[in-house]
Amino acid sequence: MHFRETTQRIFFIKDKDHPYVQEKPFDWIRGYQVGGKSLIWGRACQRWSRFEFTAPPRYDYGIEWPIGYEDIAPWYSHVEKFIGVCGNKDGIEAMPDGEFMPPFDLNCVEEHIQQKIKENYKDRYLVHARWAQLTQPGEIHLQQGRGKCQARNLCMRGCPFGGYFSSVSSTLPWAKKTGNLTVRPFSVVHSIIYDGQKKNAIGVRVIDTNTKKITDYFARIIFLNASALNSNLILLNSVSSRFPGGIGNDNGLLGKYVCFHNYRASINAAIDGFQDKYYYGRNPTEPILANYRNLKKQDTDFIGGFTTFMGARREPGATEKLTEEIGGAYKDAMSEPGEWKTYMYMQGETIPKEKNHVRLSKDEKDQWGVPLLITSVGYDDNDEKMIKDFLEQSTLMLESAGCKNIQREDNKQPPGLDIHEMGGCRMGKDPDTSLLNKWNQLHLCKNVFVTDGACMTSTGNQSPSILYMALTARAANFAVAEMKKGNL
Ligand SMILES: Cc1cc2nc3c(=O)[nH]c(=O)nc-3n(C[C@H](O)[C@H](O)[C@H](O)COP(=O)(O)OP(=O)(O)OC[C@H]3O[C@@H](n4cnc5c(N)ncnc54)[C@H](O)[C@@H]3O)c2cc1C
Repeated sequence: MHFRETTQRIFFIKDKDHPYVQEKPFDWIRGYQVGGKSLIWGRACQRWSRFEFTAPPRYDYGIEWPIGYEDIAPWYSHVEKFIGVCGNKDGIEAMPDGEFMPPFDLNCVEEHIQQKIKENYKDRYLVHARWAQLTQPGEIHLQQGRGKCQARNLCMRGCPFGGYFSSVSSTLPWAKKTGNLTVRPFSVVHSIIYDGQKKNAIGVRVIDTNTKKITDYFARIIFLNASALNSNLILLNSVSSRFPGGIGNDNGLLGKYVCFHNYRASINAAIDGFQDKYYYGRNPTEPILANYRNLKKQDTDFIGGFTTFMGARREPGATEKLTEEIGGAYKDAMSEPGEWKTYMYMQGETIPKEKNHVRLSKDEKDQWGVPLLITSVGYDDNDEKMIKDFLEQSTLMLESAGCKNIQREDNKQPPGLDIHEMGGCRMGKDPDTSLLNKWNQLHLCKNVFVTDGACMTSTGNQSPSILYMALTARAANFAVAEMKKGNL
């Protein structure tokens, strides 16, 4: 959806320029522009619930998170207020409320399906999802230089109004205002430099992408946020006599328990009626059906949950009946709204497993001399069962809402295309089974913080990036306090 003629040259990198080794099929989606993937993300921003934070030990599929919902809730609020998130306060336990601006309206078919699900299921809630879209900018957003979302749905080109959150529209200009920000594009971090005598990291080694000149930069504290898999790569490549297997990696778990969200399954359908109704603008958001699986107890033959995004729209006129996609008749048909179509797609939790891992190639390097990343990540039987359940349940829900021509698809796409890569440097209470503590510090090198997707102990089923932002804000606040106390 986001990879189009308008975006492919600027916002996505070419694998042939930035190769990696796929031990199993894996589509690693990357954007190396300043602002990273925040320019091309989908902007869905649901909070994790207490169910997700507690699920891995409850269902015996992972280690315990070192923090709970109550630890991160104030930081979700902090981020929501700053980046601007629209949504509704729905009071759903599986998808906690936050600090929201008004949502976009649901259209009539979405409202109809919402009502039918409410009538037919007492534990399923189809509501506005939460999106980093400025529907009613506040003072803090205006100060960032941003304006209201114009409902053009051209977000993936990078919005000239700052109508959605990206680091280019929001956090980078804000940081620039402090006078303390230096952005150094065209720079590849090769590794973190560790000083065995000081027992601390002292800086980073950087390669200029154009000149290939190597420069060392020194700092008291290092925040590593290169996106989950690149952060794993940098940590694994940060070798020293103290840490021959990568910084902080005494337990050998760095790069392991890589996980992702499962987006393989979707359904599409048509619905009769509502022919006299349309909608305003191009709504850049979608409703969401909050996870209804395995919340308080395991109620399926798989573990983990899934959220379901959905939407409804009118097709362009009677174009389907025309054989040629050109000419006056086609143009006339396009100007008339056609049949209503609706869809649902899943965002499923996957189970962190030691065998799903990334590691460094011993003999292949990229053009800057950095070892290539080997990805060895696949689906498992749990994912297959979840897909089956999603397809069955979504079909039943749309059928009972009066939809017809329901088409079910499992596109079998490899992991990676699911765009939410996580893990490899997980948080945990025990340094024997995790890499990071509850403040996202490496257990074994406290002045290195990893707060991107690499830190995830499990994947939950909510869109994860606002959790990375909340964890980052929380860890940065902690780091400043520790620095002031002289502990860092
Ligand atoms: C199409 C698409 C839709 C998405 N939709 C959603 C969504 O709706 N909701 C959601 O929560 N998430 C979504 N995501 C995921 C989201 O984009 C990422 O989780 C988020 O951008 C991660 O932020 P990050 O800063 O960790 O990584 P990035 O945004 O990837 O930024 C990392 C930065 O680090 C730089 N970097 C990497 N390696 C090095 C190195 N060695 N040296 C120097 N710099 C380096 C990169 O150039 C980049 O600028 C989506 C992603 C895609 C691709």
